[in-house]
Amino acid sequence: MDLFQFFTPCFILDEVEFKRGVNGFRTALEERFEEVALGYSVKTNSLPYALRLAEAEGCMAEVVSHDEYQLARKCGFSPDKIIYNGPMKSKETFIEAVENGGIVNLETKRELKWLESLPADGRIFNIGLRLNINISHVSPEDADGEDDNSRFGFSDESTEFAEALDYISSLGNIRIAGLHIHRTAHSRSPRFYERSVAYAASVIKKYNLNLDYLDVGGGYFGIFPNKPTFRDYAEAFYRPLHSYGLDNLSIIVEPGNALTASPFKFLSEVIDVKRVDEKTRFVTTDGSRNDIDPFFNKKDYLREIIRRELDRPIEPLQIVAGCTCLEYDRLFSLFNEPRIEPGDRILYNNVGAYTMTLSPLFIRLWPRVYAVNENGEIREVRREACASDILNMDLNQNIIQDNDE
Ligand SMILES: *Cc1c(COP(=O)(O)O)cnc(C)c1O
Repeated sequence: MDLFQFFTPCFILDEVEFKRGVNGFRTALEERFEEVALGYSVKTNSLPYALRLAEAEGCMAEVVSHDEYQLARKCGFSPDKIIYNGPMKSKETFIEAVENGGIVNLETKRELKWLESLPADGRIFNIGLRLNINISHVSPEDADGEDDNSRFGFSDESTEFAEALDYISSLGNIRIAGLHIHRTAHSRSPRFYERSVAYAASVIKKYNLNLDYLDVGGGYFGIFPNKPTFRDYAEAFYRPLHSYGLDNLSIIVEPGNALTASPFKFLSEVIDVKRVDEKTRFVTTDGSRNDIDPFFNKKDYLREIIRRELDRPIEPLQIVAGCTCLEYDRLFSLFNEPRIEPGDRILYNNVGAYTMTLSPLFIRLWPRVYAVNENGEIREVRREACASDILNMDLNQNIIQDNDE
């Protein structure tokens, strides 16, 4: 692909790679379970084009706020294709989702109260409950320290899970149809899922719950050499469920990173170079760490440098930096490599997860996004953001004068 045909900076979405992830995960799950659902994690990459692609590939949308819920609705997901998680639901969208057959996993006590506002018209409404998981207790080898607890879900180590069950059964028109156990261990190891699913199964048995689904959440590796495969994860869910006689449950996964990281690349262009001492050459690009490293913790990237000419002298040290005025907006260093010059391009691979959704409005607004389909056709699917996009939200627009008026 000719990388000089794109306007920079930009993200490039590889649709084939995206579909490979979705279908790879689904196929692996279907080898073990009758009914499976993939919930595309909207917070991981909320690009509308990607949401529509996920919808077309048969994914549900996994959302964790009323804003994400509305975005998913506007991108074509009907309420029964939405998995609604997290503490930031609104009452209105919560009721809409429960009434219309969405997967709604309760996270807070106010949602328990909201259940009372559902119509008393003889219908039974299905909901799910998020179960609190302490990784230190469930799988110490995967824990971050002695007490890797969680602020999410209702805990069966306190009395609150049992109290939620009691309260729900007192309402009379609510059925608990599923448990949600999302928790991410740093290791992303199948062992952790095997143990957290076993814990969920033990809770299901303890309270004799008659469920439709277990939602095992996100936190998986994508398709990568020498990493666990989607099939390894499917096995990890299956083994404990089988031994508890619960392998007839539907399985829901909520992959974010696993589906969005590898299909997105970021392309930037070198806009200037300068020398500050005998050995050090600074390379300024139109990309920024804000585009691809929102937590500013990466040391290096899966990157490729595309030089316009091949025969360039060797430079002892080149520091590739971003376009912001932050001194530490430095991406990586090159030692004893051919000189980089303005107009050269730098491609960063594997940057689709938690990058575009964590981009601040800092100095240079959101870049363009292109998509490449299975025929190699390239389309711009999002234009670059501009000052007017910000002014659209401003409530004093009438007093702002346009310079050329
Ligand atoms: C963030 C999140 C996910 C996605 O997590 P990944 O680690 O990106 O796979 C899934 N489910 C819930 C509830 C989340 O909050």
